[in-house]
Amino acid sequence: LKKAMLEESDGIEVGKDKLLPTGFDDKSCLSRYQSLLYHRGSTRRTPSPHLISKLRSYEARHKRCSPYTDSYNKTVNYLLQQSEGEVYSSTFNCKYVVWISMNGLGNQMLSMASTFLYALLTDRVLLLDRGVDIPDLFCEPFPEASWFLPSDFPFTSDDFNSFNQRSDKSYGNLLRSNVNTTTSAPRPYMHLYLAYDYDDADKRFFCDEDQTYLHNIPWLLMKSDGYYVPSLFSMPSFQQDLQTFFPEKDAIFHLLSRYLFHPTNSVWGLVTRYYDAYLSKADVITGIQVRVFDGEPGNPFKHVMDQILNCTKRENILPQIKENHYQSTSNLKNITVAVLMTSLSSGYYEQMREMYLQNPTTAGEAVGVFQPSHEEFQQTEKHSHNQKALAEIYLLSLTDKLVTSGWSTFGYVAQGIGGLKPWILYRPENRVAPEPPCERAKSMEPCYHGPPANDCKLRIGGVEKGALVPHVSHCEDVSWGLKLV
Ligand code: GDP
Repeated sequence: LKKAMLEESDGIEVGKDKLLPTGFDDKSCLSRYQSLLYHRGSTRRTPSPHLISKLRSYEARHKRCSPYTDSYNKTVNYLLQQSEGEVYSSTFNCKYVVWISMNGLGNQMLSMASTFLYALLTDRVLLLDRGVDIPDLFCEPFPEASWFLPSDFPFTSDDFNSFNQRSDKSYGNLLRSNVNTTTSAPRPYMHLYLAYDYDDADKRFFCDEDQTYLHNIPWLLMKSDGYYVPSLFSMPSFQQDLQTFFPEKDAIFHLLSRYLFHPTNSVWGLVTRYYDAYLSKADVITGIQVRVFDGEPGNPFKHVMDQILNCTKRENILPQIKENHYQSTSNLKNITVAVLMTSLSSGYYEQMREMYLQNPTTAGEAVGVFQPSHEEFQQTEKHSHNQKALAEIYLLSLTDKLVTSGWSTFGYVAQGIGGLKPWILYRPENRVAPEPPCERAKSMEPCYHGPPANDCKLRIGGVEKGALVPHVSHCEDVSWGLKLV
């Protein structure tokens, strides 16, 4: 990173990322301008002209429909009347999809990006439930209009929290109660439930004919926790637009996240101070994201450490060590390697750091091992916890080589923002290190863990669809999951 480039960045650099709109106050969100300079290497992908023009028209719509505009007020009034049967007037011009937060930050970012893409495809406006602290994590992505639901929106966060798979106002429940959607009048709002425990009725969201019904509902209130974009790809009605917007199918999350997610100045401060102090001078930065789904007791687990070491050795990811030597015998290469570890536990980092302190490397590289925090357990309700989590996701995205833990959405987001194809550590079963320990990802796209397997025409479940759609494949880490490649 060149300091001079950063100094030049006051407002000018943004012009270089055509994906982003102009018209922001640069000081209010430094990451929007500076992140370009922190990403090393050439992993960034170029957005298509179609995507850029779709985004610019989305921004205009968002501004026209944003909270307290005339169209917004009218559409909220319609919601307040809650009169089923009254036909939604298209003169309101604005339809919305409200994103409702649930689960950890990685899950949230994946579902936010998917829901934004759904809004693009269906000409809706995305508004966000604030969750615990979403406004403290992310800057506004759209110029001159907020993406947050105002606090006087008729549904409160408590209403959203209590919404679950069995809620009666959900689309799945409507279908479970055998309402004929072709003859019944559209409603002012509908809950959509697309989270891990959704069932075949909820999954009908992914059928074209059901989208036709949903099309006329001005308020869709969506609770989801994953990257459901691969399943949008298997819907004929969206395929053409998706092909046009994303000629490179393996960079969809990369582009969406680069467009949407700009850490706030306080999070960006954590990222840049850490990066400048520990990572920026290294010749190579290797990230290792350790996510252990097995709780205490026993963490750090020996089988997990063994797996990390087996993987990094086998795939030549980290410098090799010479055990029982005091000094490297080969010529000092003068290369420095920074290993950035992230984990809720400090145990893996301590062992790794100790290993490189106690032993020389075979080629004489100097290896520093660093870990920004060890929060011990997931605390999604805690404010500073999520800020640290986002800063670490971002730091992982700034590495040259990345090792992630299978099944972890935290890792998926880091690889996507960074444009990196990570080595994925398979999830251990019965506390045994898997063999082989890891595999290089086919693409940087996140895996969707819960794809629907229903046939929309026959209305039956259990149908394998993954292999039928070009560019959609099963995931390396979750055998039934789907990802774009
Ligand atoms: P997943 O559970 O691995 O799919 O990822 P999520 O991000 O959805 O949920 C895990 C949550 O646990 C994160 O959002 C963080 O709050 C916390 N967490 C997990 N791993 C780490 C880590 O390496 N660093 C920090 N700071 N927090 C973590």
